[in-house]
Amino acid sequence: MMRRVLAAILMLCALASCSRQPVEEHAFLMDTWCSITFYDRGDEELSDEAFAILEEIDARLDRFDTGSEVARINAQAGLSPVSVSEPTYKLIKRAKELSVMTGGAFNPLMGAVSDLWGFGSASPSVPDDDEIARLLEAVDIDNLVLDDGAMTVYLADDRISLDLGGIAKGHAADEVAAFLKASGVERAVVNLGGNVWCIGQREEDRPWTVGLQDPSSQDGAYFTTVSVSDSSVVTSGSYQRFFIEDGVAYHHILDPATGRPADSDILSVSLIMDDSTMADALTTALFVMGSTDAATFCRQWGLSAVILTGNGEEIRIGL
Ligand code: ADP
Ligand code: MG
Repeated sequence: MMRRVLAAILMLCALASCSRQPVEEHAFLMDTWCSITFYDRGDEELSDEAFAILEEIDARLDRFDTGSEVARINAQAGLSPVSVSEPTYKLIKRAKELSVMTGGAFNPLMGAVSDLWGFGSASPSVPDDDEIARLLEAVDIDNLVLDDGAMTVYLADDRISLDLGGIAKGHAADEVAAFLKASGVERAVVNLGGNVWCIGQREEDRPWTVGLQDPSSQDGAYFTTVSVSDSSVVTSGSYQRFFIEDGVAYHHILDPATGRPADSDILSVSLIMDDSTMADALTTALFVMGSTDAATFCRQWGLSAVILTGNGEEIRIGL
């Protein structure tokens, strides 16, 4: 009798731990919906601290916020070097390296060109070709002048402006994931609008299953899944942000070679790697490259990727 009672109690405990609901916290930050889902311990204080980290990063890097470090750098374009905080400096240096690695497909100096199109404004529209050409002339990564000793950033031409929009969310995801891990969180998912960090595993010996959003679906359906453990999954696509003029859709990922929305056959590209900062910059670059060059790039660098093309082809590399 005693043993049966004990067994029943044990079973109840097991059920209770299985059925424990994940705790999800949301906030609208960095121009996107951010969520943190805790699977082992829900801790409001911890998520408040995590969202505070995001706010702090956003306040430093948002180029539309006149008080940000990036806005200060842009205000001094063609005038003088600006000294910045160490984390901002390191990220800008990383952005420059990734621009070189991608042969310029990722270029953080496209801010002024993006403004010409009005991305981020209430009324985007197609600009004149010669206006684009005038600005594009100055979009050269060598015009991003960094001084390690002084920790200064200088834009050597007043026609360019720094835009970290293609890398900031990945960086923020890395920072939040590192903070949560250091705080003892073992199972959690951080999602910053397409930059997902899966901490640990779903359960012991059971990886996370991450759905990759179907670009043609309105209701968040996914076209495929990837299985990941303690890694980030980052996606870039043209379906998230765009405007329509004369029946043509213009999306926000610009080709630095043309100054126009990248004419890419890719609908969505995802990278699975434990460096979300790098994955963010690289997915933006892979999108610009188009599927053939993107696949070659991924194989060359040993990356794990899923590429979905306009004709419905799903290319899996390293998975
Ligand atoms: P999302 O912001 O939708 O997650 P991405 O990570 O692909 O998408 O970044 C797109 C953002 O990066 C744009 O909104 C713009 O701020 C910036 N950007 C656009 N084109 C480029 C490019 N070729 N290289 C670097 N940054 C870019
Ligand atoms: Mg990106």
